[in-house]
Amino acid sequence: MENWGLSVFVEQKILLDPEVSSFSYQMDLTMVVVHEICHQWLGDLVTPVWWDDVWIKEGFAHYFEYVGSDFLFPKWNMKQRFLTDVLHEVMLLDGMATSHPISEELFQVADIHRVFDWISYKKGAALIRMLANVMGQTAFQRGINDYLVTHEYGNTARDDLWNSFSQAMQREGKDISIKEVMDGWTLQMGYPVVTISKHESLENTVTISQEHFLYDTDAKIHHHQLFNKRTLLCCSGFQAMQREGKDISIKEVMDGWTLQMGYPVVTISKHESLENTVTISQEHFLYDTDAKIHHHQLYNKRYRPVQIQISDYTLVM
Ligand SMILES: [Zn+2]
Repeated sequence: MENWGLSVFVEQKILLDPEVSSFSYQMDLTMVVVHEICHQWLGDLVTPVWWDDVWIKEGFAHYFEYVGSDFLFPKWNMKQRFLTDVLHEVMLLDGMATSHPISEELFQVADIHRVFDWISYKKGAALIRMLANVMGQTAFQRGINDYLVTHEYGNTARDDLWNSFSQAMQREGKDISIKEVMDGWTLQMGYPVVTISKHESLENTVTISQEHFLYDTDAKIHHHQLFNKRTLLCCSGFQAMQREGKDISIKEVMDGWTLQMGYPVVTISKHESLENTVTISQEHFLYDTDAKIHHHQLYNKRYRPVQIQISDYTLVM
């Protein structure tokens, strides 16, 4: 529990014996300590003005649990672990008809306990991670720094954070309204399923569309305004996709998944010299990077990396 200048822990979250404590216990304890230290800035130095934006301080603290622990113990592979522990878990919750927007108006005291749920912590952390990736590390760090310096010892609403991030982007010559991007994610529940399909008549063109994803397609959403597709689709002009070999063998695709263990981590990065081009590469994901794989043939990277040609894109999220 964070307090002004004082972090308080129960014994189990601060004491460990490295000789006997399990790996998962050390990891859990490290994440709790990092979380509470983070609150000294996001939560204490700058405090949400009202309960509807509690997710900002909890989302940041949860996100930095992984970033901070990764810095302290790089071998723990925390940034990869984020995907399974946070992103995938909260997608299970947020894909239900009973989910709610992360920023929600509260009308009575009894509502307050509701905002301390996994949507605040995990979806908050996932949105912050997405924003960090879209903005780039430099602009993201500058934005947080400006936000903390501008509002130290004060209260803020989410728009103050978005303003700091937008200004950080402007200083890099990118005129992007972070508020416009993020309002789509914070003021409505759920997340979209994005469909990319070949354009029927135009060659080398794909059409991108989206709809609200729900596990139960028969579920009745009582408040349709909670998902009204305002700004979620941030790709534009995604054209001219070129792939090596257009005939797809389902056997070839599925053998990679069924005849070898594990799953890949896919990295998409801008091509160093070719403009508007990204390179997609993959490697076998393992939590323990030091682990010895006794049967290397169980993961032999059968897929070849492919390149996708992208022209005129603004934001890919
Ligand atoms: Zn917290």
